[in-house]
Amino acid sequence: MTIAFLGLGNMGGPMAANLVKAGEQVTGYDPMPEAVSAARDSGLSLADSPGQAVAAASVVITMLPSGKHVLDCYRSIVPLAKPGTLFVDCSTIEVADARAAAELAVAAGHQAVDAPVSGGVVGASAASLTFMVGGSARAFAAAEPYLRGMGAKLVHCGDSGAGQAAKICNNMILGVSMIAVSEAFALGRKLGLTDQALFDVASRASGACWALTTNCPVPGPVPTSPANRAYEGGFASGLMLKDLRLAQAAADAVGVPTALGRHATELYTEFVAADGPGRDFSAIITTLLENGPA
Ligand code: NAD
Repeated sequence: MTIAFLGLGNMGGPMAANLVKAGEQVTGYDPMPEAVSAARDSGLSLADSPGQAVAAASVVITMLPSGKHVLDCYRSIVPLAKPGTLFVDCSTIEVADARAAAELAVAAGHQAVDAPVSGGVVGASAASLTFMVGGSARAFAAAEPYLRGMGAKLVHCGDSGAGQAAKICNNMILGVSMIAVSEAFALGRKLGLTDQALFDVASRASGACWALTTNCPVPGPVPTSPANRAYEGGFASGLMLKDLRLAQAAADAVGVPTALGRHATELYTEFVAADGPGRDFSAIITTLLENGPA
């Protein structure tokens, strides 16, 4: 089986490299020269165009920035693919775009799944990603061996679009809960609590959540959290904002009131405008603390 891997950026580059390590034949394509040279160092064959990569492939994996990129790409490559090709889109995009992309592939006689990930660049490099997969049971079974080469956990969430739906619902919880945890530390300090005392209580009580116990927004209680290294690395605020916006677009499309999700989107919009998109999303706490995070 030859795999075409389109989009060799921060995530796609290491994911494709892990498929090579797992013994797969991978032909990659990316328009950015830096991505191409890093991929060459990882042992990928490189194509000059998406069409060239796809023509010889039985599996096509995409890891692209947005739904527009995915749909434009599918419109150009689906007609060039061999009959019965498996399309796996791992990008984070709107549910409606994921369904439209899968329909393009299925209507042309192929199989398709949406398989967005969580775990970030660290998980992509370590092949420890979680994949949330949407598509038929048959397409999921076909995709499973390739996803296992890049990740540690797979969840078949339902039909086409269900993987994206799970991803944005989860990240809406995460964005809201990070703001709630940050507000609690800001309030705790004003009330005379140390960060450690609040952590020791909340982490063992009903306030416990990933935003507190793994990605704690103040330095100290969780030594591995990005707060201990000036919020460098981790899950970038710009990507959190992207996912919150996708969640709101989906909520608007189906008429679900998501008051906290909407407010979290507004707060992250302001934060990213002021702080830039690069720091870990827990840095939003710095807008709430009078004397900074330390
Ligand atoms: P990135 O910008 O580093 O990589 C995207 C790559 O796609 C770029 O190298 C770009 O040149 C390439 N590209 C654009 N159009 C292309 C085309 N037609 N054919 C082939 N390549 C093309 O972005 P990333 O951080 O790797 O993220 C990719 C996707 O993964 C996004 O949808 C993002 O939301 C999602 N995601 C990222 C993270 C993370 O921590 N970075 C975590 C989870 C999910």
